[in-house]
Amino acid sequence: MHDFLYRNSELYAEGVPVRRIAEKVGTPLYIYSHKTLLRHIRAYQGAFDGHPHIVCFALKANSNPAILRVFAQNGFGADVVSGGELFLALRAGIPPRRIVYAGVGKTREEITYALKSRILMFNVESPDELKFIDSIAGDLGLKAPIALRVNPDIDPRTHPYISTGLRKNKFGIPIEDAIENYLIARRLQNVEILGIHKHIGSQITDLRPFVDALKRVIILADDLRRHGIEIKHLDIGGGLGISYKGDEAPPEPGELSKAILPIIRGYGFNLILEPGRSITGNAGIFVTRVLYLKSQKGKTFVIVDGGMNDLLRPSLYNAYHEIIPVRRHRRRRIVADIVGPICESGDFLARERELPRPERGEFLAVMSAGAYGFTMSSNYNSRPRPAEVLVKGNRFYVIRERESYRDLIKGVKVPDFLR
Ligand SMILES: *Cc1c(COP(=O)(O)O)cnc(C)c1O
Repeated sequence: MHDFLYRNSELYAEGVPVRRIAEKVGTPLYIYSHKTLLRHIRAYQGAFDGHPHIVCFALKANSNPAILRVFAQNGFGADVVSGGELFLALRAGIPPRRIVYAGVGKTREEITYALKSRILMFNVESPDELKFIDSIAGDLGLKAPIALRVNPDIDPRTHPYISTGLRKNKFGIPIEDAIENYLIARRLQNVEILGIHKHIGSQITDLRPFVDALKRVIILADDLRRHGIEIKHLDIGGGLGISYKGDEAPPEPGELSKAILPIIRGYGFNLILEPGRSITGNAGIFVTRVLYLKSQKGKTFVIVDGGMNDLLRPSLYNAYHEIIPVRRHRRRRIVADIVGPICESGDFLARERELPRPERGEFLAVMSAGAYGFTMSSNYNSRPRPAEVLVKGNRFYVIRERESYRDLIKGVKVPDFLR
């Protein structure tokens, strides 16, 4: 469910015509709906209401500081995977006691920063990292709160690039080795064992893998209890999918809670969830302008001003995004590749896509672009990154200005011998 709908053939973001925003702010551009965001936030809150829990939004899906304020204001925590994300979460006013920190490659500086910030816990991904965190905490005279990220070896049945819970993935500690590593952790002086963490992948559209993985984790928690290790926080990660094509039926947070709460009842865990995509994915669109049409050898290209540097998902994962005209019309339908201006054959927003023949200058909306959209953008081909806009009711707010050419040389230094 989202708030980007046609009214009299004109696409609106809540109460504002998308075309008005695109003409004012320029393209390419991301537009988010405050109302959709709130609806998704409340769906999670409502689903887990009766059980102690923290919803830690995964910043890597969308880390615009204005969007993060919406989470901070609504009692959400944060799931961060870098020092930069920790900085953004804290700066947005998310309390450190609601921040968890995962990632296989945490550096000394990042660990120090997180320890000093007094985050809720580190989700530790390897024995080496565990010992490193222990030694840094010792140097600082602090106790590091930790969970081990376990890899339950469950196939989430999603794209290989976004599956993380299989033995062959780089994430976490194999669940068979978990006990041994918890026992090592218990002997370390400067860590405190608080939890278990798992995250099996992203864009999961079926509850089965969640339930199967959770059952394996519960067996682990029982084993740990027998060893005298009590688990306080059970972090089940994120990964709930969204509808990109309209024919997927991903479970709602309410269905997730119905499937998992009975399994953990009686354990007294504080439940931690780390949704990213399912909160912001459908709350954002990417708007681009048609520059040219080009037909050759029976193939048609619609060339737009938004490229893989702005929205990488199609190029990276062959991801499908619905693409619709901002002003609906009845021109004849064509089949075309919708491609960006980047000098790469892999630069496309859609391939072999049927759509009403666009005209030069018209705007297209790429739907469900609110997660892993702007956060994956880059300056490739020396393109300034796009603007971001938040709509609330009948008003819109630029929440990130489009980069300028000057931004392309920020921090750059030319040595004297080249002057
Ligand atoms: C990416 C990630 C998430 C969020 O995944 P979504 O599919 O966006 O919900 C949560 N936890 C961890 C550790 C992640 O790496």
